[in-house]
Amino acid sequence: MKIINETFKWASSLTQRNDTKYIIIHHRAGDGDVQSIHQGHIERGFSGIGYHFYVRKNGEVHKGRPIGTVGAHTLGKNQDSIGVCFEGNFEKEFAMSSAQQKSGKELIDYLKTLYPMAKVHRHSDFQRTACPGKKFPFDKIKEGVKDMTVDEAVEIVQAKSGLEDETIEFLLCYKYGEELIKKIAEAMI
Ligand SMILES: [Zn+2]
Repeated sequence: MKIINETFKWASSLTQRNDTKYIIIHHRAGDGDVQSIHQGHIERGFSGIGYHFYVRKNGEVHKGRPIGTVGAHTLGKNQDSIGVCFEGNFEKEFAMSSAQQKSGKELIDYLKTLYPMAKVHRHSDFQRTACPGKKFPFDKIKEGVKDMTVDEAVEIVQAKSGLEDETIEFLLCYKYGEELIKKIAEAMI
């Protein structure tokens, strides 16, 4: 999967995001290139394209908003999520093309390496919307995506920091030890 860079003219400045708890999946409910989404979102009063990535039917993955910025795609969750949009309307279309499904899956897997703590959700998990459509192959896109376990987190922290077993155990003794160790591991990746 190759991510295609895009140049956008932003209508207003973007804000850096401080947290990434979710990767949120959308469909476009239509077809067209990434610049047409950008234009449409400007017309709706956004700074520009509200999604961070756009996966086309032919399998191309395009960059949208810079990955570290606050998006405009899911009310109440833009501050701590990445938005990924799929071309098409999966309320109506029966099947996603294999090229789009393959790239979409690769993109999600890649994003999970950047943000191992982020959970993959549908837009409709957070808002009353049909998005990404009842025929969207969510389970296929999410297949094999797993959240980091405490053991994996401990391994990362040990490998990167060279801390002793006892120090890690000590960190785990805190009330929020498991979350803490995962956070440390995430910061080290
Ligand atoms: Zn959506």
